[in-house]
Amino acid sequence: MPKSILKIALDVPLNRLFDYLSGGQVAKVGQRVLVPFGRRSQIGIVVGVAETSDFAIEKLKPIMQVFADELPINAETLNLVKFSADYYQYPFGQALLSALPARLRQIAPAVSRKQYAYQLTDLGRQLDVEAIPKRQLVNRRVFLALRASNLLTEADLDEISSSARKAAKQLVIEGWASSLQVQATVRTLETQPAVEPELNQEQALAVARITQDSQSFKAWLLHGITGSGKTEVYIRLMQHVLHRSDSQVLVLVPEINLTPQLEARFRSRLPNFSLVSLHSNLSESERLHHWQLAQSGTARIIIGTRLSIFTPLPNLKLIIIDEEHDSSYKQQDSMRYHARDVALVRAKRLNIPVVLGSATPALESWHNATANKYNLLSLNQRAVTAAQLPHIECIDTTKVNLQQGLTPQLITALKLRLARKEQSLLFINRRGYSPVLLCSACHWIAPCMRCSSKLVVHLGQRKLRCHHCGHEQKIPNQCPSCGDADLHPTGHGTQRLEQTLAQLLPTARIARVDRDSTSRKNALVEILDKVHNQEIDILVGTQMLAKGHDFPNLTLVGVIDTDSALHSPDFRASERLFAQLMQVAGRAGRADKAGQVIIQTQFPEHVLFNALRTQDYVTYAKAMLQEREQVQFPPYVFTALLRAEANDFALVHQFLQHAFELARSLSDKVLVYDPVRPQMERLKGMERGHVLMQASSRPALQQLLKNLVSQLRGKTIAAKVRWAVDVNPLEF
Ligand code: ADP
Ligand code: ZN
Ligand code: ZN
Repeated sequence: MPKSILKIALDVPLNRLFDYLSGGQVAKVGQRVLVPFGRRSQIGIVVGVAETSDFAIEKLKPIMQVFADELPINAETLNLVKFSADYYQYPFGQALLSALPARLRQIAPAVSRKQYAYQLTDLGRQLDVEAIPKRQLVNRRVFLALRASNLLTEADLDEISSSARKAAKQLVIEGWASSLQVQATVRTLETQPAVEPELNQEQALAVARITQDSQSFKAWLLHGITGSGKTEVYIRLMQHVLHRSDSQVLVLVPEINLTPQLEARFRSRLPNFSLVSLHSNLSESERLHHWQLAQSGTARIIIGTRLSIFTPLPNLKLIIIDEEHDSSYKQQDSMRYHARDVALVRAKRLNIPVVLGSATPALESWHNATANKYNLLSLNQRAVTAAQLPHIECIDTTKVNLQQGLTPQLITALKLRLARKEQSLLFINRRGYSPVLLCSACHWIAPCMRCSSKLVVHLGQRKLRCHHCGHEQKIPNQCPSCGDADLHPTGHGTQRLEQTLAQLLPTARIARVDRDSTSRKNALVEILDKVHNQEIDILVGTQMLAKGHDFPNLTLVGVIDTDSALHSPDFRASERLFAQLMQVAGRAGRADKAGQVIIQTQFPEHVLFNALRTQDYVTYAKAMLQEREQVQFPPYVFTALLRAEANDFALVHQFLQHAFELARSLSDKVLVYDPVRPQMERLKGMERGHVLMQASSRPALQQLLKNLVSQLRGKTIAAKVRWAVDVNPLEF
């Protein structure tokens, strides 16, 4: 009988599979195994079983262990990762292993944390709470909560108290409660009455068109202004699809956007379908547990950030991508995939619909819609009838007297909101106190030694901090260049704005939302809760605030200093700024109160602001696409970067020069540009450079990349630098 050879994917930077002997063990495709590798052992995934090997059979080693109790990864997922690894020029084994929850990369059986739920026994139901000693306060509370609801899961208990699980176990010991194992975390506590609004005409049309065609591949672009009820459309589509037995829906959301509100909204509107979330804020065991519920088909709704596009889902029937233009869908290291693009491939292979939603679609997507590759559906009105689009005005900061960076118009508007007990939001896309520390004598500006960037002043901690590499140092007492003691924090960041507002409006209750103020777990949730409970008058924050939140009493949005993005060398900077400002403006006047948006700028006549004032995405997109076509930028051409970095720029240059000549010799259909340095020449102490490749045919570019990468691997010079290919790069 021929020996079984297992083709195994390993987490090593080589683009090949490894052959092992099954050694009499039964290992199916997709199964996790432990194998000897070099002097150590490694976790691998079986991706094929064969009867022969290109290597001498005597040299092959047997696998050490099969994790036979775990579900194998299905073929659809393996194929999707394989496709992506090839497309993004990344080793398949590394791509596959990094798509798994961390627990599945560890050498241990992946026992999922069991979920328990509790209910009262007959004995417990007859019990009076006074039978529990008064000092056992938590036991009493858990008992009362159990009496009030039929079943409490561990998650529910956690909301009562951190010692509520222990209390529940004690009730079990007393014979008053019993425990049972449950599958998904079904939240029974937060059963807010789920009102189902009647769809307006545009929404109804969108739902009708998509559901008519819901059993085959189609890419839908749902373009709807903020507050037009896109989420409501998603919910109806999900309802429709989930009614088919066992079907699953994957909802992708941007990194920042996974607010508990959105999850709660899905839970309360789709209470009969178990829902799990997959994102980076979960603990390793939660992540594994959620992933397994998705993989087994138990979870019917999966909400996740970009990595969840690779989750095995046996009955996937619909993919929804919220805020499809968001750049957090693009992974910026390891395998540099774009989750939206992978989702389209996945939907096409599964022959299911995919819905891309946005108020400001990526120009790539808009282009695809106008070329009829995507089917366009538009929502042009706000869903709440009384909700008006906000009034947007630009204030020329060169023509008025600024009070610590704020225009009189904005200050007046803030005061008016305070008097009316309405809320305001000030958007400034820079955290910290001020973006630079400047010497007024010699104009020295504190630089980061490891990056081509300036250090940001964090006055609270009396520190200078680099936002690119995390480097931190004390604020110097005198200028290192000329010795002068007159060093000034210059420009505004969130902390300074918060301080300024506290001085100008001493009665206002102010909260700041940025990466610093929300680093603690739950900090963001707590601030948002306060906003909802009207305990906050003014919110100051970065783009974290721009998305997804729905604050009915918020009627004023101020935008401070976004001018630098208008003149950025990055050709996507204005597209991003437009999307951000549309989103942030959309926070104002969501309910029945009219909203006002004040933008402070030195360039009030800029085309971007003109389009913004009329909230006219379509015209703006058209103009920008025309520009892109003229200069032959994406989406009119396909691009890829060969990125390289090293401590010594000479090595980077030598490598890129070699790669450049090689690439030129390999294809005459691809335009290969000379090696250059990126905007951020130095990052984290590494000197950087890249070669841009551009083609009007995607296959031609793919072919070149494949040949280039295989020839570069193994070259001596390539071993001296860190290099990677970035297909459809977003950052230059
Ligand atoms: P978007 O996702 O486009 O920003 P949402 O779906 O969040 O919009 O809707 C904005 C607000 O309008 C929400 O408060 C939502 O409950 C409400 N809403 C949505 N559709 C309707 C409708 N057809 N009738 C009444 N209210 C609606
Ligand atoms: Zn100086
Ligand atoms: Zn730095």
